[in-house]
Amino acid sequence: MGAYSGFMNTETMDGRWEELISIGRLMWERSLIAGTDGNLSLRIGPDRILATATGVPKGRMKADDLVVIDASGRRISGDRDASSEIRVHLAAYAVRPDISAVVHAHPPAALAMSLAGIEMEPPFIPESVLSLGPVARAEYRTPGSMELAGVLEENLRCHDAIMMERHGALTLGRSLEEAYNRMESLEHTAKTIWMARALGPVEPLPAPELHRLEDLARKAAPEHPRQRDPVCRRGLQDTGPEEISSLVRDVLARVRERS
Ligand SMILES: [Zn+2]
Repeated sequence: MGAYSGFMNTETMDGRWEELISIGRLMWERSLIAGTDGNLSLRIGPDRILATATGVPKGRMKADDLVVIDASGRRISGDRDASSEIRVHLAAYAVRPDISAVVHAHPPAALAMSLAGIEMEPPFIPESVLSLGPVARAEYRTPGSMELAGVLEENLRCHDAIMMERHGALTLGRSLEEAYNRMESLEHTAKTIWMARALGPVEPLPAPELHRLEDLARKAAPEHPRQRDPVCRRGLQDTGPEEISSLVRDVLARVRERS
């Protein structure tokens, strides 16, 4: 009980910390992270985010290894600081009111494929379209930097799964379970494509079937920004930088003020 006293005194978390601890353990058990890699966060209120603290092995966390922060990254409760990588999570929450959880891991097969320059798009299997959605790719920037959060903003607005070059993956969800499932699905898909390529040439889904699956995905999630956000609908390449940047710029400016 003592391990939880800091949180119990300062913030009611309704047991949400248990979700982060159990998903952290699962990420480590499934080899999606090693050592102190990765981080998790969960939106628990309009301006409250429960996140993993910096330098903690995510497979063996206690409640004291978590921290509550506000939308600018200011610590509200907990004894430790959030990871510098939390900037990316804050950028995600700023542009995606529809999501409540962000998972960041270093999934080895997906990362190896990205290092080797092998794309997961266009998709090879239906599951990639139906549960994962298009996997975006973000250019390399130093992990934890403002620059990384900046280059990710376009991808965060329309995608639930993003590969960050030479670094790892980011998945978003309406719940922590959903965000984690996408991470697991991303790595599973990467392994499957890898094995298939070792056996012989592999073709992506034929275009007519891809369109059919995309239609099913649209009908299953009509509220998703990919369906509703004009920026996602008309394609990010047509988007002016002003339109897409303001929300993330605000968050990063507030984070910068505090660092
Ligand atoms: Zn990382």
